[in-house]
Amino acid sequence: MTHEQGNLFDEKTLAEATSDAGARIEHLRREIEHHSYLYYAKDAPEISDGAFDSLMRELRELEAAHPEYYDANSPTQRVGGYVGEQFAPVRHASRMYSLDDAMDFGELDAWIDRVEDFFGHLVPMVCELKIDGSSIALSYEDARLVQASTRGDGVTGEDVTANLRTVKNVPLRLREEARDGIATSGVLELRGEVYMPKTSFEALNAAAEAQGKQGFANPRNAAAGSLRQKDPNVTASRDLSSFLYAVADENMLTLETQWELLQWLHEAGFHVNPDVKRVTTREEVHAFCEEAIKRRGSLPYEIDGVVVKVDSFAQQREMGFTARAPRWAIAFKFPPEEKTTLLKEIRVQVGRTGKLTPVAEMEPVVVAGSTVARATLHNEDEILRKDLRVGDTVIVRKAGDVIPEVLRPVLSLRPEDAEVWHMPATCPSCGNPVIREEGEADYRCISIDCPAQALERLLHWASRGAMDIDGMGEEIVARLVESGRVADVADYYTLDEFELSQLDMGRANKKGEAIRLGETVAKKLVAAIDTSRHRTFARALFGLGIRHVGKTVAESITAVFPSIEALCAANEQDLAGIDGVGEKIARSLYVFLHTPDNVAVIERLQKQGVTLADEVDTTQQLPQTLEGLSFVLTGSLVESGMTRDEAGAELKARGAKVSSSVSKKTSYVIAGEAAGSKYDKAVALGVPVLDEKAFLAILETGEVPEQ
Ligand code: AMP
Repeated sequence: MTHEQGNLFDEKTLAEATSDAGARIEHLRREIEHHSYLYYAKDAPEISDGAFDSLMRELRELEAAHPEYYDANSPTQRVGGYVGEQFAPVRHASRMYSLDDAMDFGELDAWIDRVEDFFGHLVPMVCELKIDGSSIALSYEDARLVQASTRGDGVTGEDVTANLRTVKNVPLRLREEARDGIATSGVLELRGEVYMPKTSFEALNAAAEAQGKQGFANPRNAAAGSLRQKDPNVTASRDLSSFLYAVADENMLTLETQWELLQWLHEAGFHVNPDVKRVTTREEVHAFCEEAIKRRGSLPYEIDGVVVKVDSFAQQREMGFTARAPRWAIAFKFPPEEKTTLLKEIRVQVGRTGKLTPVAEMEPVVVAGSTVARATLHNEDEILRKDLRVGDTVIVRKAGDVIPEVLRPVLSLRPEDAEVWHMPATCPSCGNPVIREEGEADYRCISIDCPAQALERLLHWASRGAMDIDGMGEEIVARLVESGRVADVADYYTLDEFELSQLDMGRANKKGEAIRLGETVAKKLVAAIDTSRHRTFARALFGLGIRHVGKTVAESITAVFPSIEALCAANEQDLAGIDGVGEKIARSLYVFLHTPDNVAVIERLQKQGVTLADEVDTTQQLPQTLEGLSFVLTGSLVESGMTRDEAGAELKARGAKVSSSVSKKTSYVIAGEAAGSKYDKAVALGVPVLDEKAFLAILETGEVPEQ
């Protein structure tokens, strides 16, 4: 797909997805209601809180932008909750509100601003952890627990008294010490959270799994589910715990602040979370939230944010409530690890080895504190398995430092014309057909001329095990590719010394001048390229980088087909018949050798004098100008970087003998740097000593230079 086509396509799907705001709102409402039901009534959510919140957010924003679609029954207007029929309904002493969310520090600041504006200055606040459990209301009469209920829809909850009695650390009777704090007789409704510790949740799920049953999605659902059991014995068997933090009607107590309430609840015998702080500045609120984010993972129970409350009850009353939440409190939510966003395009990337990877291009969203706009989709099967389509609203996950992942589409929000995605038939980089081998998940571009793979292929060709072009390293190859001068392996053989010496290395010296490769290196490289023209056919075949054709396989192949002509004439069956070559390798080799671009490169290699056959081996190729001479090598060849073995092989290739010790019969000693006793012996015996320069001259001319 070309760039332009991609853009056109984007705009179309984007427009389609958002053009009809009314329809989108309706879709979102239905989807949210469905998930609310699964969450509150079934205690079995299908999507994470983050994904749910992000749908809710989108709906809220759309409703704000399109007030014409206002509906009092929209999920945005209600306190999340559900009243089941299994339990008797309980009307709460006062409404159990939801909390407004601050999704980031900016929104948290906006709330602090509102408090400040309201009072003309900032007032004391209390920071508490937002316990991720199930809301409960506990009614005490004459200091005894008389009723316990869930939040339900905020006005009416479910009577779970029998179950709640089994929850440890809920006092069935308030302690004497606290009775002074009670202002009037009557029913005192206290509120808090029932939760399941993380370890108990894991144990519960492990036990369920062992019995082949489905576990709970998270500790909060486990808590809610355990509380809403028909049989209190089941609830009792679950390790539930509680934290209390609120009173339905503060006039029932002789207290004036939230801070005092927390102390009083503790005195009365409740479990009160110890991580609370009374603060007076914005900075302290931020610090508390940051600390909570850090400590979140190490707490024995789940928290999903921080609740900041105006401390004074009188000031709380002054600020009052909106339809769904108090104005005097805010829930700072932790950066969610899952969000929903639009999948705009699936782009195919070609890796350096020809592997095609589909990548999701998404409407940017902030997930777990960082913006996500792109995520790998791995391969076609993965996309089909997840049923992801361009135009889908998808759930993306990013936990901490983990790489973002597209989890799944929200099917009900799928545009009608969204099509099943398939890997394109041709490579987006070079346009050649792509192949997928049997039993493999990946598609590959096997064209030798594919620009996306150029660097890797060029380096492979030049590598030691292949054509061994000494000095042709990553930096130089990258510059050659970037300059457009070298695109495939055949181009190596068209480089000349001057041109190479002028290669811009993309760096500048202190004077600001471009650093060039320079003559010395260029000269050596050209020599190395030249030498590589005559490697064995097996090395060249390996160097072509054909998938599955490693060094050993290449040797087996060339033992049977010793020239490129013979190899190209073979059919797949012939190839599969070679020892060590199965059908898979044969297929890969055959397809490679019959892809037109590859054929073109092979022909150009031959034209440039690269021998793709074994009859012409290096030893027989070079004129035997050193016949009758014997050499001894000592010291290290710093300039050329050759090992002594390699240098010896070059001499032997020209007919010389190479031995390891100096004698009178030795014709020459070649002494590199830090030459040792052999040098001394040569001098003592009067054997002529050559330096590395002279050695290189021998390789170039075939003759020993005159001294
Ligand atoms: P939400 O359900 O997201 O609107 O958040 C409101 C709920 O947070 C309340 O109904 C409580 O169940 C829960 N919550 C957890 N910890 C606290 C806390 N420290 N103060 C107030 N509410 C809390």
